[in-house]
Amino acid sequence: MSEDVDESSVRAADAFGALASEHRVAVLRAFADAERDGDRTLTFTQIYDALELESTSQLSYHLDHLEGVFLRRSESGYALNRAGEDVMRAVLAGSFTESPSFEPLELSGTCPGCAAGRFEVTYEDGLLTVRCSDCEMRVVTYDLPPAAVVGRSERAVLEACDRRVRHEYAIAVGGTCAKCGGRASVGVEERSARGERAWYAVAHCLRCNNRVFAPVAAHVLFHPAVVAFYWRHGVDATAIPFWELSRYLDAWDVVVTDAESDDPSVEVTVRNGGESLALSLDGDLSVRAVRAPERLSGD
Ligand SMILES: [Zn+2]
Ligand SMILES: [Zn+2]
Repeated sequence: MSEDVDESSVRAADAFGALASEHRVAVLRAFADAERDGDRTLTFTQIYDALELESTSQLSYHLDHLEGVFLRRSESGYALNRAGEDVMRAVLAGSFTESPSFEPLELSGTCPGCAAGRFEVTYEDGLLTVRCSDCEMRVVTYDLPPAAVVGRSERAVLEACDRRVRHEYAIAVGGTCAKCGGRASVGVEERSARGERAWYAVAHCLRCNNRVFAPVAAHVLFHPAVVAFYWRHGVDATAIPFWELSRYLDAWDVVVTDAESDDPSVEVTVRNGGESLALSLDGDLSVRAVRAPERLSGD
C-alpha cells in the first residue's frame, strides 16, 4: 500500500494541530480516567463535566478539532480511535513532559575496551548510559521513556532497560520495527568502536527510519543451539545482562565474507569452557547451519 506524501504531511499537521490546546489534551485525559473505570465511550455531557470549560460551545469547538483525528463519534458518544489511544498513552507515560534523572549508579561488569570491572550508569534527557569508570568507553546508550524510570530504584531501572533492549532487539532482527511495527530490513554492517572494527547486526525500519544496532554475536547468543551450548556449561545465556555480555562474547570469532555483495555470509564461532560451536548465517542473519560442538585442543 502506498500513500501520497503530501496527503500524509497534511494529515500529520492536522494531528499535531489538534493537540495544540491544553483543553484538547484534557479531553484525551478524560478518556484515560474513564478507561480506568471501565468506560471507553463518553457522552458530550460526561466530557463536559470532566473539564473546566466556560460553555458547551467551547467544548463543541474543541471536539470538532479532535473528531476524525483522535476521536470517533457514534450514536452512544465519543471514543478514542487508534491514534487517540497512542497519544493518550504517550501523555500518561510522560514522554512529552517529564525529564526524571537518577543518581549515578556503580555497576560491576567487564569493559569491552579495557577489561576493567566497573561501570557508571547515568540517566539524563531520556538516555540511559552505561560507561566504563576507568576508560570512559560507552558500553550502552539507550533511550528510555520517563515511565520506565519514575518510581523505580536505579537497579530496577537497569533491569527493566535490559529486558527492553533484549525484546526490542529480538523484534527488530525478526524484521519488524519495535517503534512503529513497520517492516525492517536486516543485515550486517562493519562499524568502529574505539578504533576497533566490529560486525554489527542492523535492523533498519523502512517506514519510520528507526535503526537498531547490536553486535552480531549478541544476536547469535539467543539461538537455541547456543543457549543449549551454554546451558551445558552451567550458564543461562538468556539471563546475561547487556553490561556483562562482553565477558562471554570476547572469546568468539565473527567472520563475514562478501560483505559488499547481495549475498554475504557470516560465520560465528562460539567458545566457552574449552569447547566451540560454529554457526553459519545468511546476510539477513538467519542461521543456515550449526556444526556440533568440538573440543578445543590445548585448552
Ligand atoms: Zn574500560
Ligand atoms: Zn519503524
